[in-house]
Amino acid sequence: MAIDLEALYIDLHRHPELSFQETRTAGVIARELDGLGIEYVEGIGRTGIATTISNGEGPVVWLRADMDGLPVEELTGLAYASTVHGVDPAGNTVPVMHACGHDMHVTALLGALERLVHTKDDWSGTIVAVFQPAEEYGAGSQAMIADGVLDRFPKPDIVLGQHLTPLPVGTIGVRPGTQMAASDGLTVTLHGRGGHGSRPHATIDPIVMAAATVMRLQTVVSREIDPREMGVVTVGSIHAGLKNNIIPAEATLALSLRYPDDAARENIMARVERIVRAEAAASGAEKEPTIVIDHTLPPTINDADATARVSAAFTRAFGEGTVIDPGMFTGSEDVSWFAREAGVPLVFWFWGGLDPQTYQDAVERGTVNEDIPTNHSPFFAPVIHPTIEVGVSALVTAAREFLG
Ligand code: ZN
Ligand code: ZN
Repeated sequence: MAIDLEALYIDLHRHPELSFQETRTAGVIARELDGLGIEYVEGIGRTGIATTISNGEGPVVWLRADMDGLPVEELTGLAYASTVHGVDPAGNTVPVMHACGHDMHVTALLGALERLVHTKDDWSGTIVAVFQPAEEYGAGSQAMIADGVLDRFPKPDIVLGQHLTPLPVGTIGVRPGTQMAASDGLTVTLHGRGGHGSRPHATIDPIVMAAATVMRLQTVVSREIDPREMGVVTVGSIHAGLKNNIIPAEATLALSLRYPDDAARENIMARVERIVRAEAAASGAEKEPTIVIDHTLPPTINDADATARVSAAFTRAFGEGTVIDPGMFTGSEDVSWFAREAGVPLVFWFWGGLDPQTYQDAVERGTVNEDIPTNHSPFFAPVIHPTIEVGVSALVTAAREFLG
């Protein structure tokens, strides 16, 4: 019996799970793979699941989908909106939503596998489908690699993947070269000396130190990076103190850094570290600040030749004008670890999930930024059809381009 992809999508959307907790999602995937008669391995990199479809001689094509939701309270008002909660790594109970479309990624990959299984006479080679956990932590692909996914499954000749994006449905965005920025997540702890709020002279105030550091960090991109290059330094979290009359002993900053390539990474990292250390010294800190790199995501770089083949195949499949160059995205992905580790090309594209009329109206009003919810927004609400159908066809089309 054919998979009811709409019901599958709605079920996944209603039951999002936080990163590395995707056990129900993996169970749903396992059930559908059972239905297709495909064997699989569960629990790779904690909650990942992967499967091989062997069909004679030919290249090995990896198709990857990520599975996790986000700690976002869904405000779409959809009949199938998520109302579930989860427990985050800090122990907090948080609302959970598929605000990045990973439910659509899973649905499209299962639909693509179904179509490929049913058309085995038309292709030859091997497909490895990877359902990856914890993309939102930037840790899931590395967890699967550490768990041996590249050794336990046929090694890829190419890695393919796709992401839902707020473009009109029917439009596919892909470009050769850097498609998505690299990123690092940093935790910076500034050490002061705590004391009474009435006696600041007897303390080293980490709040003032943190404030100066945050302001000075703004000059990395605005004053130190060549304006023709891209770079982002965002301080996304700042924590210090509990009470008005206590000067705390330390302050913690969480930074998100973005760059187009490894050279730019070295450059920005060095400047951030210089400023953090210099501001601590300027405050008279007795202890060096602590800088911890929580995660590193490499740039998502599309292989030029393979991307040209995929773009041409998409144009043949979906029509002239449907494939656009969306420019480089400043967001980051961990998909490219699979291709980097295997030393093979990657093609990662974006497909639209918005009602074309809604999008066109916003373009005409000049209110795309205000009216079109992006990934991670509590209002992110792709249309179900034909987003699923385009996602399935895109995966099948790209896979068939490289299979025999
Ligand atoms: Zn996301
Ligand atoms: Zn995502």
